[in-house]
Amino acid sequence: MFVVDAFKYKNPAYVYFLSHFHADHYTGINKNWPSGAIHCSQITARLLISQLEVPPELVVALPLNQRIDLGNDCYVRFMDANHCPGAVVLLFDLPAESDSHNGRRRIVHCGDFRYHPSMKEWEGWGEDPPGVVEEVMLDTTYCNARFKFPTQDVVTSAIGKLIAERCAEDTSHSADGASHCRQKTLVVIATYTIGKEKVLLEVSRSLNNISIVVTQEKKAILEQLDLPYIDIFSTDIGASNVHVVSWGKLGEMAPGGWRFLPNWSFCGEFFDWVNSLIVDPDDRYTRFIGVVPTGWTHDFQKRYGTGALYHEQTKPNQPTDSPSFQTYEVPYSEHSNFEELRLFIEFLKPARVTPTVVPKAGNPTKFSNMFRDLVDSRRSHAKGIQGLFGSKVNRMMLSHLARVLS
Ligand SMILES: [Zn+2]
Repeated sequence: MFVVDAFKYKNPAYVYFLSHFHADHYTGINKNWPSGAIHCSQITARLLISQLEVPPELVVALPLNQRIDLGNDCYVRFMDANHCPGAVVLLFDLPAESDSHNGRRRIVHCGDFRYHPSMKEWEGWGEDPPGVVEEVMLDTTYCNARFKFPTQDVVTSAIGKLIAERCAEDTSHSADGASHCRQKTLVVIATYTIGKEKVLLEVSRSLNNISIVVTQEKKAILEQLDLPYIDIFSTDIGASNVHVVSWGKLGEMAPGGWRFLPNWSFCGEFFDWVNSLIVDPDDRYTRFIGVVPTGWTHDFQKRYGTGALYHEQTKPNQPTDSPSFQTYEVPYSEHSNFEELRLFIEFLKPARVTPTVVPKAGNPTKFSNMFRDLVDSRRSHAKGIQGLFGSKVNRMMLSHLARVLS
């Protein structure tokens, strides 16, 4: 039996897969992991060993795109999930109980993914027509028509432009002209342990390839991600005015996930700390800009339109002569929006869609029904998968299933 992202179910008979290195998916794995080999991408394998101290002999690093023989006439292929580095969509190719489709059945487990049209061209779909996919286990994080955030390219270039404009407003020049510009704006970007690197790259580009300041711990992780632009990251706090902090530091979503609440005390403490390291008072920062890339932007998009590319909040009640603090939510998502989910299912035409992210007290059938017009109902009677629903994460009850019967 193959199990994806469900490590609390321990059974020596299971063959485990980890779609990517985000905590809500690897819950249950630790250095004392007892239950057999974990199959994953090469980047995820490195992180399992270095961050969670899983014994290397229990980690099986598999290449992208290639058909991997799992024994007993079962195969799997990994497609880049366009989520965080190392994240994969898993395509299982298994024997079927009937002779249709050459006696094979295919199961797609999306892990977490951001659909991109190029996925339709993926060589891994092979020579078979897309219609042979029996079931798609879908990343339904944003499975609602109200989620209409733009493409990553649109958002990253908007962020780069915004940061460049804001920084240009506050750059001070020395007496001899523009030759010595002193940046007066401190830019702080929140990211997960891994993920959102494309935002950091674009901000660097927009400021003439400036360094991005990260902690030693973050740099050690970034170095394992095969990033062609690893050189932009620096652990020298004075290297630039753009710094990265952990996700959640700049603020959090209000209960329900609709409104971002900035953590002004953290912003102030971080600002003071960075300024305390600058010897010349004239060189200290006078403005703080926090950037929070997230798909949970429905609230401000509802107010300002789905084309809104950022939402600015200014710290209230600040005296005019004191530093200014602002945060910007930007609708950058590494999960698919609703339209993209529909495009992916329209392409694959599976017999069934099974949601892997279901809100607490939510009904999985409600999510499956959102794709009812796109599935191939003639095959919907096919037998195959049984799901396990379980792990609680933050405000959501996530069910990163799945059991695949083999
Ligand atoms: Zn993820």
